[in-house]
Amino acid sequence: MTSTAPTANRTYDLGFARWVSQNVEGGDRLSMCMQCGVCSGSCPIAGQMDHGPRKLFMMIRAGMKEAVLRSDTLWNCVKCYRCVVRCPREVPVTYILSGLGTVAVREGYAERQDTERFAKAFWWSSRTLGRTDERLVTGKYYFSFGLVAGIKKGLANLPIALAMIRTKRMHLTAPHKIKDRKGLKAILAKAAEIEAHEGEAS
Ligand code: SF4
Ligand code: SF4
Repeated sequence: MTSTAPTANRTYDLGFARWVSQNVEGGDRLSMCMQCGVCSGSCPIAGQMDHGPRKLFMMIRAGMKEAVLRSDTLWNCVKCYRCVVRCPREVPVTYILSGLGTVAVREGYAERQDTERFAKAFWWSSRTLGRTDERLVTGKYYFSFGLVAGIKKGLANLPIALAMIRTKRMHLTAPHKIKDRKGLKAILAKAAEIEAHEGEAS
């Protein structure tokens, strides 16, 4: 893969960094990043990202908007929060990556359809089990593309799954679920009722 990292002679354009700082959740802490690399070194998925978080933050400072918003780092981050816990400068890495993902979809750098498919799978797990089960969410998302495409996507991302299992971020036992799923159902039904009511009133 061609490297899009900034070179030593590059003229830095702080416009994008300023924009991220003002418009992306957690972006106001970006200037605190001292490029120590603890986040990328702690990330179980760094090997499956085209740029680790440290490098991505340097690219933001370098004004490399397109490369940042097209980066698969935004989508391969599994939100384990290791980087956030370990960052010595309290940079909310996970929030920044999520916020950049939202910008990428909004500005057409990422496929909206893909994120919607994933959101549907995520919501299905949340409302059915009361938890998000990594394997089921991922499986449901992959197979929403069809059987063959689902198997291909699963095989292509196998290294990520293995890294997550190795670091205990994905389990192999029965699906995670809450005990009171009936209670959850009642809460969600009530929420839908209130929402419908508010929709009629407005
Ligand atoms: S751990 Fe924190 S300070 Fe270090 S590179 Fe990552 S974000 Fe920057
Ligand atoms: S939250 Fe994302 S970027 Fe941070 S360590 Fe976990 S996978 Fe890596």
